[in-house]
Amino acid sequence: MEKEDIISDVGKKLNYKHILMLIIGIIIIILIIFIGIVIKTNNQKKIKIAKETQKEESIENKKQQEEEIMRFVLENKQKEEEKNATGIIYLTFDDGPSQDSTPRILEILAKNNVKATFFVIHYSEENEALVKKEHSQGHKVALHGYTHTYSQIYTSLDACMENFRKIQEQVYNTIGEKSNIIRFPGGSSNTVSRKYCQGVMTELTQKVVAEGYRYFDWNVDSDDAGKAKNSDDVYNNVTSKLKPRKVKCSFNA
Ligand SMILES: [Zn+2]
Repeated sequence: MEKEDIISDVGKKLNYKHILMLIIGIIIIILIIFIGIVIKTNNQKKIKIAKETQKEESIENKKQQEEEIMRFVLENKQKEEEKNATGIIYLTFDDGPSQDSTPRILEILAKNNVKATFFVIHYSEENEALVKKEHSQGHKVALHGYTHTYSQIYTSLDACMENFRKIQEQVYNTIGEKSNIIRFPGGSSNTVSRKYCQGVMTELTQKVVAEGYRYFDWNVDSDDAGKAKNSDDVYNNVTSKLKPRKVKCSFNA
C-alpha cells in the first residue's frame, strides 16, 4: 500500500467516525429535547390540576361557609320565633257524649271561656240534649263515627264511609247543621284496621277528602283513656308535650 492510499483510508475512517458521532450526538440532543418537552408538559399538567383542585376546594369551602352561615341564621330565626310564639291549642274531645263527663267538661269550658271540638259517636235520645248544648255553647260538633267498633268500621271502604254518613245524619237531625269535620276512630294512620282490611286507610283518607270531609288527627294525647290515673297525670301529659306551634290535644269525653 502506498502512502497516499493509507492516508486516504485513514481519512475515510475518520470521516465515518465523525459522521457516526454526529448522528449519535444529534440523536442524544433530540432525546434530551424530547425528554425535556415531556417533563415540561407533565409539570404544566400537574400545575394545572393543582390549580383546578385548589379552585374547586376554595369553591367548596366558600359553599360550606355559606351553608354554615345560612344554618346559623335559620336556627336563630327559629329560636326567635319559638320564643315569641304564643301558639294555638285546639282542644278536642272524642267518644262522647256521656252523661258522666260531658256536662262537667262543658261547665269548665264555659267558666274559662274556651271553645272546643267534640268528635261524637252515636248517642241515645237521652244524650241528644248534651249534643245540643255543645252546639249552643259555641263548640264544634264533629263526627267520630256511628260506632267505634273497629271490626265493624274497617271491614271495607264502604263500611267506614257509611259509619261517617250515619253519624253525620244523626248530628244533622240534632243540631240542624251538617258537619263535615271527622276524626277516624284510632286516627288516620291506625294499624288496627289492617286486621280487617289491608291498606284500607290509604284509600279511606283519599276517599273522605274526595267526598268533602276534612279529617283531623291529634299530636298531643292526654291519655285519659289510657294510663293517666288522675287529673295531674292528664295535665302533665298535655303540658309536657306542648310546643310553641299549632297543637291539637285530644281527650275522651
Ligand atoms: Zn275514639
